Amino acid sequence: MKNWWEKRDPSGWIDLAGESIVRPQDLPARLSADTLRRDAVAAVFPMKVNPYVLSLIQSAEDPIGLQFIPHPAELEDTGRSSDPLAEERQSPAPQVIHRYPHRVVLLVSNQCAVHCRFCMRKRRMADPGQVSHALIERGIAYIRGNASITEVILSGGDPLMLGDDQLLSILQDLRGIPQVRLLRMHTRVPAVCPRRITESLARRMSAFHPLYINIHFNHPLELTPAAMTACHRLADAGIPLGSQTVLLKGINDDARVLCQLMEKLLFNRIRPYYIHQVDRVPGTAHFQVPIQKSLQLMNGLRGKLSGLAMPHLMIDLPGGGGKVALTPEVVVARQKDHWLVRNWEGKIYTYPCG
Ligand code: SF4
Repeated sequence: MKNWWEKRDPSGWIDLAGESIVRPQDLPARLSADTLRRDAVAAVFPMKVNPYVLSLIQSAEDPIGLQFIPHPAELEDTGRSSDPLAEERQSPAPQVIHRYPHRVVLLVSNQCAVHCRFCMRKRRMADPGQVSHALIERGIAYIRGNASITEVILSGGDPLMLGDDQLLSILQDLRGIPQVRLLRMHTRVPAVCPRRITESLARRMSAFHPLYINIHFNHPLELTPAAMTACHRLADAGIPLGSQTVLLKGINDDARVLCQLMEKLLFNRIRPYYIHQVDRVPGTAHFQVPIQKSLQLMNGLRGKLSGLAMPHLMIDLPGGGGKVALTPEVVVARQKDHWLVRNWEGKIYTYPCG
């Protein structure tokens, strides 16, 4: 018997647009304040809130509402680069980002179950369709032809917006490449569309070990019983789970909230992995937490949390310098409005600290 999304979408990918709210004017009465201004924002940065996430939002200003409902402040910094991390420049083949010698990102999906207002890849969201099979094949051919690539991260969009068969066929192709030892997937689906994680999908993915899944959770309110059931299904299939959290002003920039989140994740067999500074794409300045405050928050977590629950604070260096775990050792110099930070190659990058 077919699953619910396959019945609705014979092309094999999951299209939640039909059942999601994509215009602020269609939000229920409890969330309808300031609709005109929010509509203007959604015309620039698309909105998508699916019914499950909508059920978690009590007000547009609560920790879930702020992540998904367009906010007028988004129009205050539209002039920023849409690709500050230079991903397009580091793309030697379709759908591939090759920044580190042994590891690549393969962008297998343009779709997400929601649109997060702070998404660093929002430039890809305007596309209403899905990535073609032909483009993914060209990306896989690039990986196959590079003996140095040992790890592939499936990302997007969200890889779990592909249908089961499509996703498993990509995993199968990658597993057939001798030098690729490690597969990873980055997803927000267990947190924002948990019904997608069926027992059948989890069981079928377990054929591709070692397959690691990192799940994007930002607030303890996202760890609902449904989300936890989805995560337990993956963990029961033997898939090691990690979490990634984006530090967001007014949502989770509070040591108590972060402690609760990390503990709840760990207790549910999800290892806290990274806390990210929000990337400086258009429409996100109001979410920015100054790095001095982020370091203070991390200090606040140390000592309160089990070492197992302690994530790394990560920054992604502008211009394609890559990710750096922000510790005192990597900071070469501190200026009033920027820091000089050393990356893994020993190169120095400027990182704004406002
Ligand atoms: S789920 Fe991830 S990729 Fe999709 S909109 Fe949210 S942050 Fe961006």
